[in-house]
Amino acid sequence: MVGLSTAWFLQQRGVRVTVLERSGVAAGASWGNAGWITPAMAIPLAEPAVLRYGVKALLDPSAPLHVPVRVDPGLWSFLLRFAARCTGRTWRKTMAALVPLNVQALDAYDELETDPGLSVRLSGGPIIAAFREGDHADGLLAEFEHIHEAGLELDFSEVPVGQIRDLAPVVSSEVSRAIRIDGQRFMNPAEYVAGLADAVRARGGEIREGADVRGLRHGPGGIAVDLVGAAPVLADAVVLATGAWLPTLARQYGVRTSLRAGRGYSFSVAQPEDERTVRHPIYFPHERIVCTPLGDTGRIRLGGTMEFQPTDAPLAVPRIESIVANAEPLIEGLDLSDRQDQWVGARPVTVDGLPLVGPTNAPGVWVHGGHGMWGMCQGPATARLLAEQMTTGTTPAALRPLAPTR
Ligand SMILES: Cc1cc2nc3c(=O)[nH]c(=O)nc-3n(C[C@H](O)[C@H](O)[C@H](O)COP(=O)(O)OP(=O)(O)OC[C@H]3O[C@@H](n4cnc5c(N)ncnc54)[C@H](O)[C@@H]3O)c2cc1C
Repeated sequence: MVGLSTAWFLQQRGVRVTVLERSGVAAGASWGNAGWITPAMAIPLAEPAVLRYGVKALLDPSAPLHVPVRVDPGLWSFLLRFAARCTGRTWRKTMAALVPLNVQALDAYDELETDPGLSVRLSGGPIIAAFREGDHADGLLAEFEHIHEAGLELDFSEVPVGQIRDLAPVVSSEVSRAIRIDGQRFMNPAEYVAGLADAVRARGGEIREGADVRGLRHGPGGIAVDLVGAAPVLADAVVLATGAWLPTLARQYGVRTSLRAGRGYSFSVAQPEDERTVRHPIYFPHERIVCTPLGDTGRIRLGGTMEFQPTDAPLAVPRIESIVANAEPLIEGLDLSDRQDQWVGARPVTVDGLPLVGPTNAPGVWVHGGHGMWGMCQGPATARLLAEQMTTGTTPAALRPLAPTR
């Protein structure tokens, strides 16, 4: 999402682009995520409650947060620095840097969607946050208050108990309280990202799949991008947008902010066969599970989990099973045993909770990534800002805190 958005917004400013992708379009985290374009909810991960919750989760193998108990000094150093940031003060500071991105998020999508070559559209409609225990909603409401204080508009309201199942027809009778969040959007991510790739191609961009970048070389004719098993590609400027794999190529260019894979899992199940079709995303904040209807595919995606394992570690079936076990009491009318598309994806999580967007210390080498939980939502907005910076030489105010060499 982030690389293709960069390509599209550079094209918007008249730049000729080639996208090099070692696998296929939407091969990384941009495939099986929840597809929520919910700027009102795109907040820093590090906050006091996460710290309290994280300590508990360490002792519970089925918890949605999973940290392997193994000797990985790099990971423990990352987690300790992350934990030190779980304070209200740091949350407010990080949030202040995210607000300008969130404010622009939907507008950047609106601009993308003016492209006649883009065949996909975001869906609108409320997100329904559902709770088993009524007082579990208090945490979310307190969070909304902080978001509001930080300067983001938030349109939410209590759903009368009798109407919960009209909006979220598959929640079980265990759900006793729900809050709707309006003004947000969602997508089927794989479909949207493929559509964006087609739009980039339709405007004359080249997308080379199977192009595995192994390094860059500065020379008299520009920057040579070396590929595994293929001739180098020559460019005037290069944007590294390799998601959770970013450190491999970017560290040598002064990008030192620690970035780890915060892996999430998802799978899809069929929509109910009766009239209970799910039309809006459903969120179970207490269990940290999300459900998103996948357009007209007839399927619903369920996802969750934050697992700190190596980026390319294989999918761990117990993590899927823990999502199922946590979701089962809250859902009815969906067959959670008949799962397809079981998937793990690596969120690019920076230790300070801010994306990395801007120049590196090497001429012509730029970085765009590190959006963590919110790359689908914020990617186009930061792409637009980066394209402005690259083509005008002026740093937009919103990008200052995101400098990759900070
Ligand atoms: C379960 C889950 C749910 C999520 N839900 C949401 C959500 O609802 N809303 C939201 O905004 N975000 C969500 N996210 C986060 C979001 O998915 C990520 O922030 C976003 O996809 C990151 O996009 P990206 O383009 O930076 O990385 P990726 O999508 O991972 O893309 C990086 C690409 O770089 C390629 N690559 C890597 N190295 C090389 C190389 N050397 N040469 C060539 N190519 C290379 C990879 O193949 C990959 O395709 C979720 C994530 C997960 C895991």
